[in-house]
Amino acid sequence: MSDDRAPHGASITMRGLVKRYGSVTAVDAIDLDARPGEFLTLLGPSGSGKTTTLNMIAGFVDVTEGELSIDGSPVTDLPPYKRDIGMVFQHYALFPHMSVAQNVEYPLRQRSIAKAQRSTMVADALTMVGLEHLARRKPKELSGGQQQRVALARAVVYNPRVLLMDEPLGALDKKLRDTLQLEIKRIHADLGTTFVYVTHDQDEALVLSDRVAVFNDGRIQQIGTPSDLYEHPNSLFVAQFVGESSVFRGVLDGDRVHVGGRSLTATRGTLPDTRDVAVVVRPERIDIHPGVAEPSAANAIRGRVIQHIYFGNARKVEVRLDDGSMVLVRESAGATLAPVHADDDVWLTFRAEDASVLALDGPSVPHPTPVTSTN
Ligand code: ADP
Ligand code: MG
Repeated sequence: MSDDRAPHGASITMRGLVKRYGSVTAVDAIDLDARPGEFLTLLGPSGSGKTTTLNMIAGFVDVTEGELSIDGSPVTDLPPYKRDIGMVFQHYALFPHMSVAQNVEYPLRQRSIAKAQRSTMVADALTMVGLEHLARRKPKELSGGQQQRVALARAVVYNPRVLLMDEPLGALDKKLRDTLQLEIKRIHADLGTTFVYVTHDQDEALVLSDRVAVFNDGRIQQIGTPSDLYEHPNSLFVAQFVGESSVFRGVLDGDRVHVGGRSLTATRGTLPDTRDVAVVVRPERIDIHPGVAEPSAANAIRGRVIQHIYFGNARKVEVRLDDGSMVLVRESAGATLAPVHADDDVWLTFRAEDASVLALDGPSVPHPTPVTSTN
């Protein structure tokens, strides 16, 4: 990029932001900041209020209550075109009758930028997304991934202080998504623009973001770096939505949790103020021991293998505990893996330092990720 694109991302401040549609509260009094130049992702299930939040930042949706400012200036009453924001949607929204170059040039014409400067800016933006050779094509002569690159070039060509993206890779296949994720990350680093990115895909959120705000039911359940969320989920909802978790339901008694006839202990985070809890451990932090002899470990619990699945780089074993619940163990394929078979009796062990105790009464994910979906 040329030198006039020095880092210049804006801060965004949301205080008590509410959006109601009749009796539906789409966004319920959120407080959220995007730091200048940050890559902030809004992650959550469908209907949790991500798009509504993004559209309030953009100015496409009116704020019902609360304050929204960009670089410290209130923008609640500013129309979208005065907010200096670029936007990329899931569906490309390109003008079909214009060439690639004309599409990218469009926002510059709207801003009455001189012709000579326009062609340099268009060429720069197309180079950034690797499409300079396709400048004369029409959108329908491009693949989905190429069209989305044009949309991205069009959104950043006028060098906005903020770029908003709503599930921009949602319509693309997995390989292309992976490639474009890396490109978006590189473009973010090059531009220094503040990115606010919406996705329901937790892998994508972890790969891309400086910080992730986890949305649930119009509220922010937790905000933190990808590793904060992965290592220190503040609720069963986050533990199950961000990555996979094995959940041992039980009853808290002092600092121990009774699960079936066993007593487990966990030292991550703080103990909740409630009796009905779960000990929660990431599947890769659990060891599996075939056989009926109890291994010596701080935390050991018995189960039976239901199935095991190879992913090339890992093996996942699904185990049913005596109380009927299912937990997951993930072993890296680099290790020597003891053979396991369906119906084997096994013991599972894990360290107290790798486990948290979380309340069961908070929001939880109704359908945990099935064992066969991804690795
Ligand atoms: P997400 O992007 O996380 O899937 P949305 O922000 O689109 O969620 O929606 C949040 C909630 O607000 C949902 O319950 C949705 O049905 C509701 N909602 C969104 N837009 C409208 C609208 N224009 N009219 C009525 N309800 C809406
Ligand atoms: Mg949405």
